Amino acid sequence: MKFADLHLHTYFSDGTFSPEELVGHGRRLGFAALALTDHDSVEGCARMAAACDAAGTVFIPGTELTAEHNDTEIHLLGYFVDTENQKLLSKIAKFQAVRQNRIHEMVARLNGLKVPLQVEAVFALANCKSPGRPHVARALVKAGLCKSLDEAFERFLKKNRPAWVPKAKMSALEAVELIHQAGGLAVMAHPGLNRTDDVIPVLVEAGLDGIECFHTKHSTVTSEHYLEMADQYHLLITGGSDCHGFSKGKPLIGTVKLPYEHVETLHAAWNARRAPVASPSPLPAGGDRTGTR
Ligand SMILES: [Zn+2]
Ligand SMILES: [Zn+2]
Repeated sequence: MKFADLHLHTYFSDGTFSPEELVGHGRRLGFAALALTDHDSVEGCARMAAACDAAGTVFIPGTELTAEHNDTEIHLLGYFVDTENQKLLSKIAKFQAVRQNRIHEMVARLNGLKVPLQVEAVFALANCKSPGRPHVARALVKAGLCKSLDEAFERFLKKNRPAWVPKAKMSALEAVELIHQAGGLAVMAHPGLNRTDDVIPVLVEAGLDGIECFHTKHSTVTSEHYLEMADQYHLLITGGSDCHGFSKGKPLIGTVKLPYEHVETLHAAWNARRAPVASPSPLPAGGDRTGTR
């Protein structure tokens, strides 16, 4: 049996592994295909593609965009996006700036609570363009201000805790359209975590391509529920561990093994989508796709 993990983070967002380390773990665990889905980033895709190539692992470039619909936070995975697409890159740059401002605000709130964390310590530890709460949590532990990542989230960083800051997000419809115009397939991440069932038909209308039925935090019952929804709405089925390395406890790679047939279906759907682009008639410009292998 061949398996894939299509939801992975590196240190280009809030994971702790390099792309090469992640591919090493994937190879050790026997994965035939891996996708990189860093938050608001495609920066690690080129290195991950090279590492997968060397390891003989199939690679799917991707990203995970944070969006919202009617105040519900929704994560959208974009698979096979063109990692040099200008509109995608400029939106990503905008959301990376939002993330950096949010770090400043969270640290200011912590300081207001007499927690003497320095913002430089967070940025030094994050060392990436897509910093997030896990970086603040790790900086709190490193500075000896919290005993564990769990404590950092429970006391300060979880939603509605005193140092939590809401994040400005794009609309889910905009995220689907952004992924599509970058030549990718839009997949709703971990619907069981965000309890977003009622949003699924709305996004299907907008062209949603798939849902992540298998996820570390989905029970068997939850996965089965979303497999039924995928069937009902004719959506692609994906799955992955959502591994962040050591930044949220133990590395999760290996906990979800997506049967390889779903990778083949995903690939076929992407091929069908870009068929007009690949037609023999010459295109004026921009028909090039880099970062897809
Ligand atoms: Zn997510
Ligand atoms: Zn994720």
